[in-house]
Amino acid sequence: MHPDLEKLIDLQKHDIEAKRLRDEMAALPKLVASLTAKLEALKGQRAVVVGLIAKEEALRRGQESDVRDLKAKIARVKKQAELATTAVQATAYEHEIAFAEAKISGIEDAELESLERTDALEAQKKLADAAVGEAEATLARESARASETVAADRKLLAEVEKLRASERAEIGEAALSVYDRIAKAKGTAVSEALNQKCTACQMMVRPQRWNELRDRNNDDQMMTCESCGRLLFYDPARDSPQRKTVPVESIAAQIVRSL
Ligand SMILES: [Zn+2]
Repeated sequence: MHPDLEKLIDLQKHDIEAKRLRDEMAALPKLVASLTAKLEALKGQRAVVVGLIAKEEALRRGQESDVRDLKAKIARVKKQAELATTAVQATAYEHEIAFAEAKISGIEDAELESLERTDALEAQKKLADAAVGEAEATLARESARASETVAADRKLLAEVEKLRASERAEIGEAALSVYDRIAKAKGTAVSEALNQKCTACQMMVRPQRWNELRDRNNDDQMMTCESCGRLLFYDPARDSPQRKTVPVESIAAQIVRSL
């Protein structure tokens, strides 16, 4: 294998690891932010329920006060009725009392309805409390895990960066610039050729090139994949034995085919 290619394979491993660490360090705060947003949304939903419960309580306080007023009025009218001198007056007082009693009965019905709504809201609040509690626990757990992971990643990344710097210093400038150019365009620059295929783009390597890659073992110059342009390397230990040789079309056959 070309001496630079071997180093580029190691460099690529560390480039991939550095990218993985950077991606993870960027993704974890986003996860924590989304869990925080979810918790805030659940708290908002619970606040709406709590607000509705308070509204029902205020409504019932008003209803009870109205009932008290009406009862006081009835007592007052009853006293006045005792002093009535004419049948017309007595009937008028009776009507007034009946009207107030009907009003009380209506208010008491409304109060019962309010109590039923409160029961339903209390059940909703229980669920909301549980959801908020669960979201708080998840956030606390994930925040702690994220901080630990990011701290560990930062340490690992510093080590990987150190390795990368020393590896790059060992590689020829020309090979390094080819590697950087392909890596920038494709994400990765080096690809293993396995079973006559480029493992990065999955395209077949032509038999002639495949044999060249295997026999010359990439010693003199680095070979690239004709489809994706990545630098190819071949590891005989990983290739399947039945594919060791690929028949190359004879020159005679090529000539016959081109006629
Ligand atoms: Zn390829």
